Amino acid sequence: NHLKKYFPIKSGLLSRTVGHVKAVDDISFSIKQGETFGLVGESGSGKSTVGRTILRLTDKTDGEVKFKGVNLHGLSPQELRSLRPKMQLIFQDPYSSLNPRVRIGDAIGEALLDHGLVPHGEIRERVLEVLAACGLSSYHIDRFPHEFSGGQRQRVGIARALVLNPDLIIADEPVSALDVSIQAQIINLFRKMQDTRGLTYLFISHDLSVVEHLCSHIGVMYLGSMMETASRDELFRNPLHPLLSAVPIPIPKLKRERIVLSGELPNPANPPSGCKFHTRCPFAVACCREEVPAFRKVGSDHSVACHLV
Ligand code: SF4
Ligand code: MG
Repeated sequence: NHLKKYFPIKSGLLSRTVGHVKAVDDISFSIKQGETFGLVGESGSGKSTVGRTILRLTDKTDGEVKFKGVNLHGLSPQELRSLRPKMQLIFQDPYSSLNPRVRIGDAIGEALLDHGLVPHGEIRERVLEVLAACGLSSYHIDRFPHEFSGGQRQRVGIARALVLNPDLIIADEPVSALDVSIQAQIINLFRKMQDTRGLTYLFISHDLSVVEHLCSHIGVMYLGSMMETASRDELFRNPLHPLLSAVPIPIPKLKRERIVLSGELPNPANPPSGCKFHTRCPFAVACCREEVPAFRKVGSDHSVACHLV
């Protein structure tokens, strides 16, 4: 609710704060249990910061984040720690977070040990189970990260998150580094895991066509603001924000014609006044430069921030 995350811009010898980058600027949305919410936008739109702020990997500037009714930013470090296994993050390339000298089985088992979730003697069995669920086998348990392909490494990343038996997974561009054929396999794995384990996903991607395959709901961000949220079907049938015509998606999916944007992505440290999208919007009118459009509900499952809608 009204989540904000501002990063200070420092300058000079004394590191005075001379401004802020409003990476997340007053956004609100909710994800129901068992749902997959796709958060899309250009790079630099604040998607990853939303994910990290939800998980309290970084502090918020303002607003609140509730997980099953619990206000996450109000928890003590101990309370947060006991909730951590329930909320897991999956990265674009888990390789960067894997120690090259630690065997995959140990890397996956480590988290179980850390949180004391399983007796020591049962860890290997649990790791084997989760590897199998992710399409890997006992052959892989004693291998090192460099012995895995990109797709296999993402399977390891998923296994490492799943072994803790989470309720919510935040996946930040989990297939962006993979070949298209491998992307489909990993997306299928995400879907299968949701079916068998009742997971809830926040799936972050710059690619609307990837999100379309997996997500039941979609939110579109631009320069730290949420511009449109809707169910997937509604968004593809009836996209309302002018920004959506700029996202590279298969054209027949959207009924309107693609519009070529003029102008470059503005500097996030100094975003345009009024509607942040006005410098690139082909429909901008005078008031767009002055007034911030409210994020309004326009249908039972559809909200948008645009003066013209
Ligand atoms: Fe375009 Fe104005 Fe709508 Fe912003 S508010 S998206 S500038 S028409
Ligand atoms: Mg990102």
